[in-house]
Amino acid sequence: MVKESMQLPFVKVLMEGIQEMVFVMRVGEDANFYYAFINKAVMDTIQLDPQVIGRTFREVHDLEKAILLEQQYAKVLKTGEPVTFESNFTNINGEVRNGKSTLTPLFDEGGSFTHITSITQDITKEKIAETDRDVNRNRLVKAESQYRSLFYKNSDAIFTMDLHGHILGGNKTTEKLSKYCIGELIGRNCIEFVDLKDRERANKYFTQSINGDLKDYRLNLIDKTGESIGCLVNFIPIHLHNIISGIYVIVKDMRELDKLVSKYDESEQIFRIITENVHDVIIMMNHNKEYLYVSPSSKEVFGFDYEKNSKHVPFFNIHRDDVNLLDNRFDHSIHHAKPFQVQLRALHQEKGWIWIEIKGSPVYGDEQQFQFMVMTARDMTLQKEYEKNLEYFAYHDSLTGLPNRRFLSDRLSELLEEKQSGITIIFLDIDDFKCINDEWGHEIGDLVIQEFSKRLAEAIDTHDIAARLGGDEFIVMLPFVDNEEEAIEVANKIQRAMETPWHVEHAELTITTSMGIALSKQEDISESVMLKNADFAMYEAKRAGKNLYRVKRF
Ligand code: GH3
Ligand code: MG
Repeated sequence: MVKESMQLPFVKVLMEGIQEMVFVMRVGEDANFYYAFINKAVMDTIQLDPQVIGRTFREVHDLEKAILLEQQYAKVLKTGEPVTFESNFTNINGEVRNGKSTLTPLFDEGGSFTHITSITQDITKEKIAETDRDVNRNRLVKAESQYRSLFYKNSDAIFTMDLHGHILGGNKTTEKLSKYCIGELIGRNCIEFVDLKDRERANKYFTQSINGDLKDYRLNLIDKTGESIGCLVNFIPIHLHNIISGIYVIVKDMRELDKLVSKYDESEQIFRIITENVHDVIIMMNHNKEYLYVSPSSKEVFGFDYEKNSKHVPFFNIHRDDVNLLDNRFDHSIHHAKPFQVQLRALHQEKGWIWIEIKGSPVYGDEQQFQFMVMTARDMTLQKEYEKNLEYFAYHDSLTGLPNRRFLSDRLSELLEEKQSGITIIFLDIDDFKCINDEWGHEIGDLVIQEFSKRLAEAIDTHDIAARLGGDEFIVMLPFVDNEEEAIEVANKIQRAMETPWHVEHAELTITTSMGIALSKQEDISESVMLKNADFAMYEAKRAGKNLYRVKRF
């Protein structure tokens, strides 16, 4: 099996007894290397067979591998010294293995350089072990540096203590928080730095932590100046070979956070108190007009309980004709960062449509981004009624409810402008009214004025208008009377209406009135001339003895 000149006595040993791969290469006169011997390990490991004997590297291997081998063998040839190199080989199972080869020159008896032996060891396991060692070493270095920066540069105070609570060391933040330097702390029992009232709890937490219940605990610690510091404390047992050898204590200063939380709580509480007690509805909406909050007063103002109907579409209870207005104001307000105010109709579950006033204020965050819209909605029904009343009283007399002077002059001007065939007015002034006030008092006087108004209004037709000019003076407007006879008929009717006995409270009275009649036969007569004429006629009646009427003739 072994060819060429390798008829050496220890061939069998080389062949079978050595686990490493053994190659013997003959150095050719052409400076090429020819396989002269391979042992069984070579055949079993890299599947070379005896046919390679007599062949060169290039005839057996791929070019890359062949060149690598040639270079190493050439080195031996050149120096006459052994060479060791590492290279990969693929074994019979297709696995890539790490090999370490040692090449040694062989000389013949004449001292000429005839062969080079190579012994290749599989060093894959060692390589893996080495890599693992490197990885672990790196990991350890990394962990240690991480630990160092975690420990020393931590914004929380971290210190170590033994199982009796004696402080062993601590980071910079520990010094900053406690106002002690580490030297002053080492050896002291950490319970000394716990607020008296918290010590019992601290001991309990410490025991719980050692037993594996790792939680954050709230404790008040005392610094060197005696100030109490609200802290969040975490005890972490240090395990060494499965035995707890000490404790890490991580202490977070909670003062700032506590302040913020209490501020938040306070403002939340204030917000809650305000929103739950105001009569207006407070509504918070995001930019999508989704309801974020609706105060409980919605139940009263709109008759619906928001809590139970929280999935409403935007402005669901606003009148269809008013939604666009609100939408526009809402968007405009966000865009221009300006509050808005709008009056519109909203649906009340029971009352139907009601007038409401919505005031909206956009709220922005630190970076000027819109956060939400706060709106207050107020039921305007009462105000609207009040406004209506105001309008009513602007044109009516509050004592009698009759139209007042303003109403009268507006209406009279209108009637005169319409240039109908003619209208008539009667000016009335109660006779001797001062005496009633004097004798019975002003209140009875008022009641007389009210009763007079009532009788006057009843004496005329529905299309006629009775108005109070002020004091004891009244006007009756007869829009469809354009002749004296009819006017006198009305005057007589009024006179009769006053004749029936007057029972005002406990007073029995006789009330009469003097009347002046004016007709608008003349073209383009003004309202003031009409009134002046009637007043004049009334004055005539007074002069003639009262309880009379006179007609102003032109
Ligand atoms: P004459 O027959 O000439 O009209 O005599 P008179 O006493 O009625 O006099 P006159 O009309 O000038 O006076 C009206 C009085 O009515 C004067 C004022 O004191 C009184 N008076 C005016 N307004 C009110 C009112 O609102 N209530 C009451 N009680 N008295 C009023
Ligand atoms: Mg009078």
